[in-house]
Amino acid sequence: ICWSVRGGWHRPRVQPYGPITLDPAAAVLHYGQEIFEGIKAYRHADGSVHTFRPDQNGRRLQRSARRLALPELPVSYFIQSLRELIAVDEPWVPSGEDQSLYLRPFMFAKEAFLGVRPANKVAYYLIASPAGAYFTGGVKPVSIWLSEDYARAGKGGTGAAKTGGNYASSLLPQAEAYENECDQVVFLDQDRNVEELGGMNVVFVYKDGTIVTPQSESILEGITRDSILQLARDRGHKVEGRGVSLEEWRSGVASGDIVEVFACGTAAVVTPIGVLKGRDFLDQQPTGDLALSLREELTDIQYGRREDKHGWLVRLDGA
Ligand code: PMP
Repeated sequence: ICWSVRGGWHRPRVQPYGPITLDPAAAVLHYGQEIFEGIKAYRHADGSVHTFRPDQNGRRLQRSARRLALPELPVSYFIQSLRELIAVDEPWVPSGEDQSLYLRPFMFAKEAFLGVRPANKVAYYLIASPAGAYFTGGVKPVSIWLSEDYARAGKGGTGAAKTGGNYASSLLPQAEAYENECDQVVFLDQDRNVEELGGMNVVFVYKDGTIVTPQSESILEGITRDSILQLARDRGHKVEGRGVSLEEWRSGVASGDIVEVFACGTAAVVTPIGVLKGRDFLDQQPTGDLALSLREELTDIQYGRREDKHGWLVRLDGA
């Protein structure tokens, strides 16, 4: 779908997959004015195809758009784009354990203009790719590298938006994580509060059953996290969103007050954190059953194996 200041949203169409032609002066290439989403389509045992809380992705795309001075795509157009692609790509939705079709909606400034101002011409695209299981041979705890030299976002910055620049700035710390034999990076904010991983939110489980997750204006509000926390509330857990300092994390683990730490996002759903490593420490993390049982409950809903009591699924194919 295209957008221009004069014409609004226009020319929606499904076309064969192929390269996008851009003017070398297209604003996105110079100033990074772009945003995206990540969402999956799941095939149920009866063959039907569903997606999970697409309204939430549509609304987050709108919030990202506001921050990046891009036009807001109406949520109904967003969901319509998923339906129209599935109408063509339905055979590509795999069936089987933890298989899905990954959908990648994105929007960028395509106007050829080298001045620094919001672009007057924008494009919204949706592409898709079959995705296999994130874990093969069972869920494995991940090891986390604490990034002390690099921040992901600052106050008033773009941390809460899903925009490429945040991911570009996470690549060097991610390389540092690999050098230190860790799978993922955890970012802190300027107050040394825990933010999130490169592509997942963090959740702490306390001894008394309370679940705490970092909250700040620079964190991407994960839809998986929101859903997992709702399932935990349904089970009677108290849930708190608040600042969590690195010191609270480390001392909570050392004293046994924190009994589980896990990360969550669309790709891996939920993964326990096994190790937190910094320049001069390595803390083993406690593991428990809650992360995996919430993971199972959520994936059961997504794959139609359990009642969708919150009405989160939206059917995308035909009927
Ligand atoms: N934080 C970041 C930085 C992410 O890229 C993602 C993945 N979209 C998440 C958190 C988790 O969000 P969601 O559960 O909506 O996938």
